[in-house]
Amino acid sequence: MTASEELFARAQRVVPGGVNSPVRAFRAVGGTPRFMASGAGAYLTDADGKQYVDLVCSWGPMILGHAHPDVVKALTDAAARGTSFGTPTPGEVELAELIVQRVGPPLESVRLVNSGTEATMSAIRLARGATGRAKVVKFAGCYHGHVDALLAAAGSGVATLGLPDTPGVTGATAADTIVLPYNDFTMAEMAFEEFGNEIACVITEAAAANMGVVAPQPGFVEGLRALCDRHGALLISDEVMTGFRVSARGWYGLATAGGGPAVVPDLFTFGKVMGGGLPAAAFGGSRELMSLLAPLGPVYQAGTLSGNPLAVAAGLATLRACTPEVYAAVDASSARVAQLASQALSEHGVAHTVGRAGSLFSVFFTGGHVTDYATAQRQNVARYAAFFHAMLDAGVYLPPSAYEAWFTSAAHDEEVLERIAAALPDAAKAAAAVPERVGDLPHSGAFDAGQPA
Ligand code: PLP
Repeated sequence: MTASEELFARAQRVVPGGVNSPVRAFRAVGGTPRFMASGAGAYLTDADGKQYVDLVCSWGPMILGHAHPDVVKALTDAAARGTSFGTPTPGEVELAELIVQRVGPPLESVRLVNSGTEATMSAIRLARGATGRAKVVKFAGCYHGHVDALLAAAGSGVATLGLPDTPGVTGATAADTIVLPYNDFTMAEMAFEEFGNEIACVITEAAAANMGVVAPQPGFVEGLRALCDRHGALLISDEVMTGFRVSARGWYGLATAGGGPAVVPDLFTFGKVMGGGLPAAAFGGSRELMSLLAPLGPVYQAGTLSGNPLAVAAGLATLRACTPEVYAAVDASSARVAQLASQALSEHGVAHTVGRAGSLFSVFFTGGHVTDYATAQRQNVARYAAFFHAMLDAGVYLPPSAYEAWFTSAAHDEEVLERIAAALPDAAKAAAAVPERVGDLPHSGAFDAGQPA
């Protein structure tokens, strides 16, 4: 028995499914989850002492790689000063200032919270409080955390488990959620025709990355902005995944990079990178809108550990170390891994499509064009499972689900890329050995759109 197998058996006795977040259980790919004991740079080491190149990066936060010296020092220094006071602290002012300064003018004020879920939940409460309306529009395959109102057609985690929605969310809660196909502006128009004066907000991932990576098509978000303006609803851009990862200013920064007019959301949500691997997240918008929150306004929102000194220290150290060189390195390594994977799969005749949004990417095991959740679901997940396990055996840790993004860090250097390249041919062969299904779409060679419209 391996150490991971032993730990998994113990964990299952005291933790539901043996894990504290469902995708970690390997249900979508089969086998025993690897219990990781440590991480350094681009590598993870499991409880059996086996080393892996990490292409999950804690689902996004570890943009600098694991145990980055600046982050470790900031954390040890902060811990020595005390871990939580339940009072305001200097660090949280600095982090809020840094976030506001990085994103720029539409973002004037942020509230720090502990998880992306809390950020989207609170942003929706604020939108409802501000508009006095109940309904929320979300897109199928977009995931915004396990907020009751948003657990409808919620992408990776839920897709991985094959749950259409979840028991425990009441009919009344779900009734206020309108789920529409991603990238389908006509359906959004129709929803606003019917419910326009009841819709508090539209929430969308800045670029979808929880059904695999699917960039917004040109005009889609612009159209949503116009619909919200016409009907008095708020637009929430969920940058929990993209924020401070795809550029110094997140997706919003990429969208404005060419000097083009960016779509300005009313509210942003952030998480992952801004916490540097510790639990920190945020939501924010204009000072006027954010002043509706307690203690200034009537919309209640709070948290014992919000703005926690350790999380803030890790976030500040991470953001400060995220230089243009870091973003260039992440752009380069992610493009290279996507290209290497695509090349290996092509060489073995495995139909696939690479979805890209800035430095976010994933490989869909379908040859068809992927623009929404329905087209993402055409992939051959059995082929992904075979590919995943061959990579794992060869020491490369991929997301244990075909519906998740792959992540690199600034520590994914040439040596790391070579290790990935060496593992790919056998993994592509393993995928090719899984039969195609009737109706599988042949390889189109497509790299789906990678930049904001
Ligand atoms: N929003 C997006 C876009 C996410 O990808 C996630 C998590 O993956 C969340 C929100 C929820 O964040 P958390 O898991 O920190 O609650």
